[in-house]
Amino acid sequence: MKAILQLFSLTIAISLVLSCSEESGSVIDQLTGLTPANDVQLGLSVVAQIEADPVNYPILSESEYPEAYAYIQDMTSNIVSSNDVRFKDLFHYSEVKIIDADVLNAFATPGGFIYVYTGLIKYLDTADDLAGVMGHEIAHASERHSSSQMKKQMGITLLSQVILGEASASQLAQMATGFFALKFSRNDEAESDEYSVIYLSDTDYACNGAATFFEKLTSEGQSSGPEFLSTHPSPASRVEDINSKANDINCNTSTIVESGMNYDQFKASLP
Ligand SMILES: [Zn+2]
Repeated sequence: MKAILQLFSLTIAISLVLSCSEESGSVIDQLTGLTPANDVQLGLSVVAQIEADPVNYPILSESEYPEAYAYIQDMTSNIVSSNDVRFKDLFHYSEVKIIDADVLNAFATPGGFIYVYTGLIKYLDTADDLAGVMGHEIAHASERHSSSQMKKQMGITLLSQVILGEASASQLAQMATGFFALKFSRNDEAESDEYSVIYLSDTDYACNGAATFFEKLTSEGQSSGPEFLSTHPSPASRVEDINSKANDINCNTSTIVESGMNYDQFKASLP
């Protein structure tokens, strides 16, 4: 283990020497000892596990559903254009994927690979609602909550083996299982909610789209499932916080003009 840690430190030292700007991924998170470039390596490993498991993660074919992908890519790039989204040149935000399953969820891996379920898209009523949820997920990657929690919950030994390409198949599976069971802290959730509002304030979407989603879920008595509801802050207090932040910066109205498909057409274009 000591050797692995030494090798890991060496990797960090090398990446520090090679680059010195945040965008190039050299900034080490003091808490985790991981660099943003390490986040991308972890994300790529999670992506490989997802792609190897089409039964549990049936990814919608991009070639069969080009319009749906154009819509979600357009929405993602709108949000990521915000100045407050970090590591744009390093993280893989543009590679957003749709998973064809009736699940009310979306998630982002470390390094910004984003996944959104058709179940969630169809459940929501407007583009603002989905943009709000996407903003929340992008913030977990951009603020590096995922890699930080992976380190805490799985340990640096496993992650360093994954990063160095030395993990066995069972360790990779263990890492992916851990990723899908990842718990964010109350602070992570509050921060991602707040960043969702901030990102959307740089777009034409209503900034409190994430609040609408919580309101719909709670009004229908849904209390579990999506990662957004998995932690302590009650949905009601989160709705209040999101709305009040959006009011503070005066951006709770949608002015989005959809040039291609509208949100209903997007939903109808899905299988
Ligand atoms: Zn979250």
